[in-house]
Amino acid sequence: MKYFDYAATTPPYPEVIRSMAEIMEKHFGNPSSLHQYGEEADRLVRHAKEVTAQLLGVKPNEIIWTSGATESNNFALKGAAMRGGRTQGHIITTSIEHPSVYECCRQLEQIGFEISYIDPAPDGIVLLEDIQNALRADTIIVSMMHVNNETGAVQPVQQVSEWLKKVQPRTLMHVDGVQGFGKLPVVLAKWNIDLYSLSAHKIRGPKGTGLLYIKQGTELFPLLAGGGQENGYRSGTENVAGIVGMTKALRLAATEQYTLAERLTAFSQLLKTEIQAIDGLVLTNPAIASPHIIHFCYPGMKSEVILHSLEQQGCIVSTQSACSSRKAEPSRVLVAMGITREHAASGIRISLGDQHTNQDIEHLITALRQTVTQLRPLERR
Ligand code: PLP
Repeated sequence: MKYFDYAATTPPYPEVIRSMAEIMEKHFGNPSSLHQYGEEADRLVRHAKEVTAQLLGVKPNEIIWTSGATESNNFALKGAAMRGGRTQGHIITTSIEHPSVYECCRQLEQIGFEISYIDPAPDGIVLLEDIQNALRADTIIVSMMHVNNETGAVQPVQQVSEWLKKVQPRTLMHVDGVQGFGKLPVVLAKWNIDLYSLSAHKIRGPKGTGLLYIKQGTELFPLLAGGGQENGYRSGTENVAGIVGMTKALRLAATEQYTLAERLTAFSQLLKTEIQAIDGLVLTNPAIASPHIIHFCYPGMKSEVILHSLEQQGCIVSTQSACSSRKAEPSRVLVAMGITREHAASGIRISLGDQHTNQDIEHLITALRQTVTQLRPLERR
């Protein structure tokens, strides 16, 4: 089987698995304990933070370990909204965010916050001017993703942040960086943002580990009350093996990103050309897209049918984002782009990673052609 669902999750690097196994076996102490087992675990967590901070070009005390980007996004939004006991205020986000931002905003709406969900242009990219028009004096936070997890659309996060910090610096800027890190350049210092979420399992690290960058001086309401770990921002015993595994994955992903981007760009260009040449398939990718995500529709056919046909030919792809793919509804992201519900119901996402070879891409192209030939008699035109 060839796996083309790297935007859902990735196989951990062997180095990550080895280092995590060693930590669970030999360094199982609780970082808060005062004895040598605790001190050793604490040293590992602090070292991981220093390495990660250096990779991101930020200070170690600006990084908080979390259980993944879902928690990081919830913490960024709820922590900002509810700071100082607030129950009202305005938030700007987009209608194409991952559910961990979108549904979190829905919850905040239910308790009294007002949310502006900005739709993208038909190419899947949100326009700066639409964010500008939504800004209010009481806007607490603007939350936007770097790269969309379904279409690969690259969002103008730096442009939005530069403008926001000029006109209303007290409004926080949060970026969900999950799908961009390791594929596109990320320079937090230059972006001038306040909050940035990452997840380990999208970059060949372990599941259940992530981080939130919190710019020094930013106040957030801590969602998890308890022992006051992570400078009081996030209570709970640290996932030492996960943190060390994530740091290893971040380092490898950062080291390999430029050669990877080159290879993925070549693969994605080839795939896009081939998809466009197959009668019946419609490429949905915007012009500015991360090279690891290719999205197309096969109007008249259901996504699941295409997915299973490709699986029969040895290729694993995805219908929409992993957490939405079991829902019957067509993708919220595609519908927000103005794609008809019928087209959206036939969407397929291919996502690539560093382990793919030329042969894998050739195999996928052949499978796509065979799938269309096999399914053509079933088309509902
Ligand atoms: N944000 C984006 C853009 C994602 O693609 C994902 C995962 O699919 C998440 C957030 C959630 O990450 P996690 O699985 O670490 O909770």
